[in-house]
Amino acid sequence: MEYEGQICRGPMERASYMLPISVGCSYNRCRFCMLFKHLSYRELPLEQIEEELRRVSGLGGNPKQVFLGDGNAFSAETDRLLAIFALIRRYFPGCQGVNMDATVHDILRKPPRELTALSEAGVRTLYLGIECGLDDVLAQMNKGQTMAQAGEAIERLHQAGMSYGAHIMTGIAGKGRGLENAQALADFFNRTRPDRIVNFSLFLHRRAPLYQDILSGQFLPVDELENLREEQRLLALLETDGLVYDGFHDCITFRVRGNLPQDREKMLRKLEAAIGEYEAKEPVFAFVP
Ligand code: SF4
Repeated sequence: MEYEGQICRGPMERASYMLPISVGCSYNRCRFCMLFKHLSYRELPLEQIEEELRRVSGLGGNPKQVFLGDGNAFSAETDRLLAIFALIRRYFPGCQGVNMDATVHDILRKPPRELTALSEAGVRTLYLGIECGLDDVLAQMNKGQTMAQAGEAIERLHQAGMSYGAHIMTGIAGKGRGLENAQALADFFNRTRPDRIVNFSLFLHRRAPLYQDILSGQFLPVDELENLREEQRLLALLETDGLVYDGFHDCITFRVRGNLPQDREKMLRKLEAAIGEYEAKEPVFAFVP
């Protein structure tokens, strides 16, 4: 199958087989995101999805876990998702679970009985773009959700038997607000209990609407040193047991990952060393062409 778009999935899905069921993101309005801005959202025909499953199965593929693409695969109607799961079971009898990205409103739109049906059909983890813990920042980013709505969506998916993974971005709150955001995020995560968190640390394409906000002075960008301090504070405050954390700062090729709480001290020491290193350097901003 030809893949359209930029592949973006959490590192916890590296062993999953990725099956695209749609192209792009049906929301596509976040000001920092350029993943799918060049694409019109569309769902792929079931025949095309089945053809791909048949091809992979014919090559001997029988993955234990499938990740459905793309930007918010969970936005599909429940009947369509159930039909796709039936195909996955037919071609991959060894499949034990299906994960995918979802927006908060994709979850809130589905009634509880549909969420339960999807959980029973094999959905294990939904990845939500939580991004930050501050409502005014979510509004500025045009994220289309509040923290209260995110909390409600997570409660519903937990009640249906699914777990959630959070995508966040240090730096999203803007210059001077990293520690405030770390506290707000920690409070939210300690209450809503994700089983994994991925920090993609904000990096900005110069064509992104948020980059234009920087040029017009509406958003003050954060350098990597402040991002590292924000991440350090967040990791110190997280209280969730059994949490897998992975944080990337691609522009400075720094990564910190581990399981909480057992790896916390080691991760904090790694961050402390990186902070010391960047305190002695010129500020680095994660802008990409
Ligand atoms: S919902 Fe996700 S994929 Fe869609 S525009 Fe926002 S960040 Fe990008």
